Amino acid sequence: MEHNLATSADRADYLVDLSNIVREQSIGGPGLRSLRRLDLVVAALVTLTGDPDVGVYLIADASLLGGSREFTDQADVRRLRRWVADGLVEEVPDADDRVLEIAGMTRIPVITGDRYDAYRTEHTWIQGNSSQFLKPVPGPAGPAGSADTVALVPLDMGVRTPAQISRREELAALKKQGLLGSDRTPLIKVLTRAWRCPERRCSLYDIHSGDRVLLPRMHRGVPTCQQHRVALSDDGPRPATAQLKAVINGTCVARFTLDEDSVTSVGRYPDPGIALFSLLDPEAAARVSREHVVVSLQKGLVLLRDVSSYGSRMRTADKRGRLGPWEQLPPRVDRRFHPGDEVELAPGVILTRSGRIFPAELPEDWRAAAPQTPVPPGAAAPTMSV
Ligand SMILES: [Zn+2]
Repeated sequence: MEHNLATSADRADYLVDLSNIVREQSIGGPGLRSLRRLDLVVAALVTLTGDPDVGVYLIADASLLGGSREFTDQADVRRLRRWVADGLVEEVPDADDRVLEIAGMTRIPVITGDRYDAYRTEHTWIQGNSSQFLKPVPGPAGPAGSADTVALVPLDMGVRTPAQISRREELAALKKQGLLGSDRTPLIKVLTRAWRCPERRCSLYDIHSGDRVLLPRMHRGVPTCQQHRVALSDDGPRPATAQLKAVINGTCVARFTLDEDSVTSVGRYPDPGIALFSLLDPEAAARVSREHVVVSLQKGLVLLRDVSSYGSRMRTADKRGRLGPWEQLPPRVDRRFHPGDEVELAPGVILTRSGRIFPAELPEDWRAAAPQTPVPPGAAAPTMSV
């Protein structure tokens, strides 16, 4: 299971509100606190995604280890301490706030049972959200004596009243304009830049060193080093990446990282490119062209083009991740490839994008989510620097 723990939110597929999960007494046997619950959640994620290497990023309150006596099994406490030391748990004074900060910035799904009622004014996007939070619940009972299981179900965060809906929309619109404003946090500009702590030996945010790279912590609208409590300096454009997964007969068998400004061929045996031949059975291999599709990352957009002999089909995911009908891809035309979209190279051979969105896609996503309100006089259209 430990190989599923990511050292950075940048590399994870899911965030885990660890304190909440460890204390969730409806799963993983009795006891006030148990890491067994996390083991079950990760096993459920592997089942849900079909990806044995699905990555989770753990965020915990410092009080989780502070209350170590509440752990039934003291081996859990030792394991947790080691994870904190190894950078596999981000320990912060207020985990809820940190979870929502990262989730709001990246749209990464969150595993939690919490509805974060106290945070909805600041994090308005939680309102009505029914797709970004997953709650662990007891899984179907196995045969007597078998290990217990956990299922993950979407947590509908709900919207209380029409007044709250309009307030949410109002705030979203304000926030949208605030992306350029001086008083609100310009999250997109923050996300598309790399950051560096002025403290000389601090590499917490340095993308060029070490492998633990934190997303900046916003303090009064300024990206701040959470350890040294000083403003971070802008270290240039953040090289962004997108993740591609190969799913064969329902199981994710490989994942590939694509870099910005790259053009990558995917097929049976492209040269150069991503070769799938070792993953395909002979029947599928006969249907997949040597060079089947070309995926490119340009100005923050992920594009996909069919260049195969027998064609490809695509189905696109809506905002809630529901997939539409299969459509034949027109040959040799670039199509947008969004997170959750699926491209079928041959029966049972699917390429998909991991659920997190590419930082440069955020502005478009914001525009799509914001209500149609007139732009206040004097406000410019949203722009961004990449
Ligand atoms: Zn620092």
